[in-house]
Amino acid sequence: TNTSETLGFQTEVKQLLHLMIHSLYSNKEIFLRELVSNASDACDKLRFEAIDRPELLEGDGETAIRVGFDKTARTITISDNGIGMTRDEAIANLGTIARSGTREFFQQLTGDKQKDAQLIGQFGVGFYSSFIVAQKVTVVSRRAGLPADQAIRWESAGDGEFTISAAEKAGRGTDIILTLREDEDDFLSSWKLRDILRRYSDHISVPILMKKEEWDAEKSEQVTRDEEETVNQASALWTRSKSEITDEQYAEFYKHVAHDFEEPLAWSHNRVEGRSEYTQLLYVPRRAPFDMWDRNKKHGVKLYVKRVFIMDDAEQLLPGYLRFVRGVIDSADLPLNVSREILQESRDVRAIREGSAKRVLSLLEDLAENRKDDYATFWTEFGQVLKEGVGEDAANLERILKLLRFASTQDGTPAQTVSLADYVSRMKEGQDKIYYVTAETFAAASSSPHLEIFRKKGIEVLLLTDRVDEWMLSFVNEFDGKPLTSIAKGGLDLGALADEEEKKQQDEVSEELKPVVERLKAALGEAVKDVRVTFRLVDSPACVVVDQQDMSQHLQRLLKAAGQ
Ligand code: ADP
Ligand code: MG
Repeated sequence: TNTSETLGFQTEVKQLLHLMIHSLYSNKEIFLRELVSNASDACDKLRFEAIDRPELLEGDGETAIRVGFDKTARTITISDNGIGMTRDEAIANLGTIARSGTREFFQQLTGDKQKDAQLIGQFGVGFYSSFIVAQKVTVVSRRAGLPADQAIRWESAGDGEFTISAAEKAGRGTDIILTLREDEDDFLSSWKLRDILRRYSDHISVPILMKKEEWDAEKSEQVTRDEEETVNQASALWTRSKSEITDEQYAEFYKHVAHDFEEPLAWSHNRVEGRSEYTQLLYVPRRAPFDMWDRNKKHGVKLYVKRVFIMDDAEQLLPGYLRFVRGVIDSADLPLNVSREILQESRDVRAIREGSAKRVLSLLEDLAENRKDDYATFWTEFGQVLKEGVGEDAANLERILKLLRFASTQDGTPAQTVSLADYVSRMKEGQDKIYYVTAETFAAASSSPHLEIFRKKGIEVLLLTDRVDEWMLSFVNEFDGKPLTSIAKGGLDLGALADEEEKKQQDEVSEELKPVVERLKAALGEAVKDVRVTFRLVDSPACVVVDQQDMSQHLQRLLKAAGQ
């Protein structure tokens, strides 16, 4: 249809726009990074769809992004010849926020500018960041494969509504035209735009073109020529050699692939050769996304095959417990038309998954060894996910166990900082087990009556309070030859830790208490399995324990809560 239609933004978009304009103003140049990032994604999508439908290329397979400006009209234009948008796509993509975690995001807003700015960064700023500098945004777009007269024009002043109408566009793809706000004329400068593009978008693999500028001595001013030049390196970052890539470039590339605003915590970049050939550039984020535990949320790295983008969130390329990792894997072996189903079964994919898991574990080991503060950050954000690896990845069990961190009676705080190796190094003379207690909260764990005898003897006990702990422990028998032992189970045998004198005394007391035990057994009847004299309590008169082979009370409660 030819009619122009005015539609309202989704409520969340209005809120986001308001928030963004006010809290990100000091960082306003990021609009260019976001728009170039979208243009690059659109070129990737075109090349991917063209694998099956080459006619989409309309005889021109070269993709490019063009950035230009007009001083008189006070506009900046970012154009791409990527996939483009239909009318329906424009309405959905530029009028709503469809991302998972949107509700959680809005619930977490505080009204504190600085905190909220950080939150928006995590959420991803995207297209709407144009309104930080633009009083009006016009999008002219034509979906690849549609005729020239089926393009659309989308326009908005960012104040709650947008209009959408029919348009003509000869070339496929999208033009984004920003009409700048009053005091943003700084951006109408070739020097300024190039500077921002080099800083934020150098890693983009599609060429970013700008018109050449030259000094005209007669007029004594910069003049713009018709000739174009490429302002970025325009080669896929992961294909370059490590020595040519700066930390800033790695960080900017991360922000692009991960849609994250913050710097990454660490990364690993490798080319793997041999039976299976691929390049991996894997990042550990600094912060867990809101939706890490959302089952519907897709996780994973981007998959490329010989530099052609294949898919986002290729979940099969990393084991589930490393789902927080972001980045790119570029395979030389997989077919271009590889689907999620094929990924499921392929031997090449298994080789990549195993190789990548090892790389990530090495990266984490390096952090744990050499950057302890950063490892603590990692553990706080992702430790609970990594614990799933104990049950999922038997082949790397030893390595994962070494990466675990726990709270313990050693420092008595809930901070999870103690490794199993730390624990073993502090074991008492004669101690041959690693002792732990599980509970739902740190307070409950650290006030457990079972701890009394350990406190008295100065033996450290790990305090486990994460939901996954019980499940995780069911996959671990020992560490470094020392069995992991719950202090709440069965007739705890302190072995060599109990001295001879004590033992003799205990035997005598046990004998003396026999009648009491018999009376208690008779009184409690079916309610208990057994009644025993114990020497583990110091201040409390009695406690309930489960049998060595039985489920712990904590796990019993968890299963009950889960309806089992
Ligand atoms: P994100 O890039 O994280 O998806 P954005 O807010 O940056 O979020 O963009 C929203 C959506 O708008 C994109 O996912 C895409 O579908 C669409 N879009 C934005 N810019 C373009 C473009 N230049 N070409 C095609 N589609 C685009
Ligand atoms: Mg984007």
